[in-house]
Amino acid sequence: MNASASEANYALPGTISFDEAHRPRLMGGLCAQCGAKVFPKPKICSGCWSTEQQDLALATRGKLYSFSIVHAARKGWPSPYAIAYVDLDDGVRICAPLEADLAHPPTLDITVELIVGTLRAHADGTPVLSHRFKPVQEAR
Ligand SMILES: [Zn+2]
Repeated sequence: MNASASEANYALPGTISFDEAHRPRLMGGLCAQCGAKVFPKPKICSGCWSTEQQDLALATRGKLYSFSIVHAARKGWPSPYAIAYVDLDDGVRICAPLEADLAHPPTLDITVELIVGTLRAHADGTPVLSHRFKPVQEAR
């Protein structure tokens, strides 16, 4: 994965950037009026209705707030898969797939980190990429 990967292969084009080391960052919005941080970046703040929304590179780690294992997946999606809410370290709550051993589901409040992976495939097999989270392997 690198910064030159085609945006056409992303489920949400323009929401992921890569730093010099090719680590992914989610790009959210920061409201210039009230300071609300949101993902993805809105055109209008849902809190104060301001249209002054700035780009904001979000934290890459957070805590697993909740997740659910989905067995009835949409066409082209792997099954089963886990979908999660993650509370990023900068306070933004993100809904995203969770990459984990579903036979041994993770516990809540563990630290997770942002990765980019395959969300699903087009009918011709072309992968569609998206942001997702995986548990951080803590040093023992
Ligand atoms: Zn606002």
